[in-house]
Amino acid sequence: METPADTAQGRSDPPGRCWCCGSIDDPGLLVHLGNHPEVAMCLPCARWAAKEAGAIEDRSKSGPLVTVREGFRGLRHEVLNRNWHRHPVFERPLRWLGKHLP
Ligand SMILES: [Zn+2]
Repeated sequence: METPADTAQGRSDPPGRCWCCGSIDDPGLLVHLGNHPEVAMCLPCARWAAKEAGAIEDRSKSGPLVTVREGFRGLRHEVLNRNWHRHPVFERPLRWLGKHLP
C-alpha cells in the first residue's frame, strides 16, 4: 500500500524528511506542497524557497525597494561566500537577520 511519503518515482522517504536538504524533522513542522502533499520542506528550506521566489519576482520590477532588496541579497551572498554564517560569534545574529531580511 502506498503511503503519503511515496513519491511519483516510487521512492519512499521516512516521515519528516525534507525533500530539499534531506534533514529529518518533526513532520508537523514541515511545509507541504498544495497539490503534492507528499513533498515536504523544512522551515529553513521553505524560507529559502520564499526568498528565491521574491528574487524571481523582482527581476521584472524596478524601483527603490527593489534596489534595496537586491542590495540585501548581494550582502547575503557575500556572507555566504565568506562563510561568515558559520562563524562562532556571528552565526546566530546573521541567521536571525537572514530570517527577517529579503
Ligand atoms: Zn530542508
